[in-house]
Amino acid sequence: MARCPDCGGEVKYKAPFMVCLDCGLSFKRGELDNVKTTVRNEQKKIVGESTEEIERKDRERKRAYHDWYMKKEDK
Ligand SMILES: [Zn+2]
Repeated sequence: MARCPDCGGEVKYKAPFMVCLDCGLSFKRGELDNVKTTVRNEQKKIVGESTEEIERKDRERKRAYHDWYMKKEDK
């Protein structure tokens, strides 16, 4: 099962979008890179974290994305 890159919730594929059932985030499969950037920028605005903290979380997210991608590709 795919996971939302933002909240980690369940994501369903509704062509041509992937839609998160929890937060409503929707994106095309090929747009994950854009989603990552958008999510990070939104977090920065909302939380106001330090750059170091954001970069640390971004690295964690990248690992999560990698896992997510690999699971998807396995199907
Ligand atoms: Zn979500």
